[in-house]
Amino acid sequence: MQPDSNDRYSNPTLRVVSSLALVSMLVGSVLIVRVGRDTKPPQAARPTAAESSEDEAVSIPISCQHLLDDGPPSTPPADQLVLTNATVLTMDPQRRRAHSVATRDGQIAGIDSESSEGSVIDLEGATVLPGFIDSHSHWIGDSDVVEQTSEEAIDTALRWGWTSISELFVSWERLDALCELERSAALRVKVGAFLPLNYQTQRFGHWYDSYTPGEVFGPHLWIQGLKFFADGAPDGLGYQTKPPSPDVQGALFWDKDELAAEFVRANDAGWQIAIHATGDGGLDLALDAFEAVGTDDILNARDRVEHLTTVRDDQIDRLKKLGLIGSIQLSFFHAGVADELKRWLGESRVDLSGRWRDLIDAGIPIAGSTDRPWALAGISGPSIPAISQAVTRTSPQGKTAPPWMLSQLMTVDEALRSLTIDAAIAQRTEDSVGSIEVGKDADLAILSKDPTSIPPDELADIEIIATIVDGRVEYCGKSVPTALQEICP
Ligand SMILES: [Zn+2]
Repeated sequence: MQPDSNDRYSNPTLRVVSSLALVSMLVGSVLIVRVGRDTKPPQAARPTAAESSEDEAVSIPISCQHLLDDGPPSTPPADQLVLTNATVLTMDPQRRRAHSVATRDGQIAGIDSESSEGSVIDLEGATVLPGFIDSHSHWIGDSDVVEQTSEEAIDTALRWGWTSISELFVSWERLDALCELERSAALRVKVGAFLPLNYQTQRFGHWYDSYTPGEVFGPHLWIQGLKFFADGAPDGLGYQTKPPSPDVQGALFWDKDELAAEFVRANDAGWQIAIHATGDGGLDLALDAFEAVGTDDILNARDRVEHLTTVRDDQIDRLKKLGLIGSIQLSFFHAGVADELKRWLGESRVDLSGRWRDLIDAGIPIAGSTDRPWALAGISGPSIPAISQAVTRTSPQGKTAPPWMLSQLMTVDEALRSLTIDAAIAQRTEDSVGSIEVGKDADLAILSKDPTSIPPDELADIEIIATIVDGRVEYCGKSVPTALQEICP
């Protein structure tokens, strides 16, 4: 799923953050089990009838039921646009580049077509990409961590060109909240919700039985899959089979047979499975459980392993054989955290971390993401810096990465694919988003420069000029072309 090209860049935005802060943020990001949730344990499942009033024990949250009863919210009509004088990177292998794209009724209506009707917008040489897709995030669910409301988090996402996200921990309360946002037309990015089965050793039961895989609650909200946590550690990278010291070993949250039985049950009911696995021991557990599902069903459901932060060679082989998708965070591993990784993994095993290049070369489908707000909390979420980290591994302070990190660089094209078409595949939405093709949703990110054709050290200067969702301009940056200004929100 990942092709060619080779570029690197650094990002000045991140340089203001101290390496110490970054390290602690990395701990938080990888160890989502530790940060943010210890103080407020989640209750994923709707309370049972015994715990709640009869009214609360309905199978679908109230606000979501309202959506189903009343239909989706009315939204303003989409702009009919002809975006011209642009570099269009379609991410469609059949037609990789174009110069103009037309939208109508919220969809792509034409590419380089002469007869397109609508407001002609001269983009003054800007670059148009499919809207970015964050395949693993907590943009809305955990937005309070970065002291934002849901609406502010959505604004931030749009500012960085995200048009579609997967939320990886949607409890019933959070699903209620998402439905309410959708009902009031405030859910301006598309959200696929993963329902959690556990959090650390806490289990939530089969509350997902109240929902249908892929169930759609509105144009911007659907149930995507189920989320499991295999492992975690209060100080380290998940459960390690050979930790350098006992205090960084971490823990497993499931017995092998128990997890396999849960996977089979979920799979039989048609669910896509995503499991958090950060240590190599956690990944062993996940892979063993996936053996019970089998390759055919894994491919069919597009089951995924989240993070893949520590991976042994034999596990790369198993991931490939099983047909699993790797859902990785592009900004996790850079020079600034190299020492901390050594402490967690030991000198001899540190090169097992962040093996994006090896995963791609092995033919494992990769979906990119931010894990916002946990990865690099406070500054995570930006799409351009995520791409920067994936392709340079340079620290935010400008420190060059050690050789074992530099051997794992992604190309710009791979990073872009991981945040567009490949993320769409992991999200099962590639029929409607992820590339610029006629008939797909008019979800677009407009960039100030073409990231595939400028020197690496200029990539960090790329700005998101505008973000378009369903043909509507939802965000405009400072350097928006004159012709676009009239239809900016
Ligand atoms: Zn996460």
